[in-house]
Amino acid sequence: MPAVTADTLTLPRLPELPAATTAWRPVRKVVQARKSLEGEGFQVRRPFPGVDLALADPFLLLDHMGAVEYGPGEAKGAPWHPHRGFETVTYMIDGAFEHQDSTGGGGLIKDGATQWMTAGSGVLHSELPPQDLVAKGGLFHGVQLWVNLPKAAKWTPPRYQDIKAHDTKLLSSDDGGALVRVIAGDVAGYQGPGMTYTPITYLHATVAPGARLAFPWPEDFNAMVYVLSGRGVVGAEQRPLEEGQLAVFGHGKALTMQAATEWDVLVLGGLPLNEPVARYGPFVMNTRQEILDAIEDFQAGRLGGTHVPHVGSADEEL
Ligand code: MN
Repeated sequence: MPAVTADTLTLPRLPELPAATTAWRPVRKVVQARKSLEGEGFQVRRPFPGVDLALADPFLLLDHMGAVEYGPGEAKGAPWHPHRGFETVTYMIDGAFEHQDSTGGGGLIKDGATQWMTAGSGVLHSELPPQDLVAKGGLFHGVQLWVNLPKAAKWTPPRYQDIKAHDTKLLSSDDGGALVRVIAGDVAGYQGPGMTYTPITYLHATVAPGARLAFPWPEDFNAMVYVLSGRGVVGAEQRPLEEGQLAVFGHGKALTMQAATEWDVLVLGGLPLNEPVARYGPFVMNTRQEILDAIEDFQAGRLGGTHVPHVGSADEEL
């Protein structure tokens, strides 16, 4: 089962924005996702962090997992590893991922559901394909987004939000040709279910060939579009954007895009934290000392659990 679908003609429509007089955000940069291996060796495409992480603030990382058709025995995941200081947001479009953590939280994420894990002061968790997917193989397609926590919330206790596919706020574009699933934040006054510490907006849209998708966007948020599949154009300047590419937008009041083929995009942005970032693998804090403390706490077992974890890769040096 893919991400939630609906007849767009039955959904609330986004308001039509006048093409000539709207302050459309221009495309500032297009980034090609690079391939990286995670966990036990499953491939992800990672549009950021790239050369300029500040552009993505308050987001830290976006991993596009698949789409891949696993054969029997091929599916892999990320066994026990720690996190501290941010949130992992896992959205599964096809297939499933099973999460477990040292506080007893977790669950099976599938069919358009999102699991929002606030690591806060620290957890150990494992992210694995369920046994039947490993045994039989099958389609696997999802996304993991890392959202930074403001300095004041880094020590918050760990928390889960399980967002089912049908909890997302479903909308249609003004021309009825795009299905918008708001996972968190606000689009033209329509609110998604995700509760966030940092103001953000995060949505997944499926845009029919030729359809246009446009909506207002807060002026103080950054704005990015990542293509999961298909091709289209973004901005009033109609910059081409295809699978595996990320567009970063400049200033303005609204976003516009149009599909060339059937096009699946993530649109995300938030209020930049503008705080110092110290990151090492699975820990994202404000200072180098806090990273050293996190490694020490992890090694001493103070992040919980009695499993046999290892510190994962996820880039970046101390
Ligand atoms: Mn993880």
